[in-house]
Amino acid sequence: MNTQFSCVGCGKCCTDHHVPLTLSEAKQWAADGGNVIVLAEAFLEDGYGVPALQHTHAQRRSCLVPSGNTNAYVAITFAAFNVGPCRNLDAENLCRIYERRPLVCRIYPMEINPHIPLRPEAKDCPPHAWEQGPDFIVGGKVMDTLLMTLIEASRQADRDEAGAKDAICNLLGIRTAALKGDGFTAYLPDMAAFAIAVEEISNTATLPPLSIESGWTFHVSGPDIADTLRSAGAQVAINDPLNYTFISLKQA
Ligand code: SF4
Ligand code: SF4
Repeated sequence: MNTQFSCVGCGKCCTDHHVPLTLSEAKQWAADGGNVIVLAEAFLEDGYGVPALQHTHAQRRSCLVPSGNTNAYVAITFAAFNVGPCRNLDAENLCRIYERRPLVCRIYPMEINPHIPLRPEAKDCPPHAWEQGPDFIVGGKVMDTLLMTLIEASRQADRDEAGAKDAICNLLGIRTAALKGDGFTAYLPDMAAFAIAVEEISNTATLPPLSIESGWTFHVSGPDIADTLRSAGAQVAINDPLNYTFISLKQA
């Protein structure tokens, strides 16, 4: 079945959505006075924490880091912290920075992750947005080649910038991640410190080497996962979070 789509400009995707940013977009967001939320998830080098089918995609957008006596792949997302309407959304639901809006704003409602199929009912776009406009997806294929180029650019930035984001997090003391699929850790760094860290790493030709002290710790939802990670040699948090929030993906 074909999927039609035409944006109706309702502004819902610009409200209560933390918009993932590339490194240069995060730098600009900070320079404009916006806040950036840092989200971290990880899985073990042996693949524990990630479904086999998603392993290649997940690994390519992650950075190999030490955790205890083993290694893990950590994926870090810098996102515009949008609680309520985005700071760039005006009273007419128009974007004040439309010409330079982030890549992900140009891609919505498509998914970046190739393992997440587009489900109109899971998106903020109202039903009539899916009942008009050109064929958007035909036989599972996205028809808009420009859109596909933007999606690929976003995926490529995730891959290219994984190490730099890890180095920035190291400067900011961000070293605890959730296990992929179990949740996220979420940090709201001081934006002046964030801007300095991004500038420093952006100007570094070679990323600083990671020491064992700069390894990552897992924060998990329950003792079973904690035991499995510890058995594999990974470091697991035992204290309550000081500088982050754990967002569980487990059903209560
Ligand atoms: S930057 Fe513009 S397009 Fe992106 S969420 Fe904000 S208002 Fe919407
Ligand atoms: S939620 Fe959908 S229809 Fe509404 S502005 Fe965003 S992309 Fe357009």
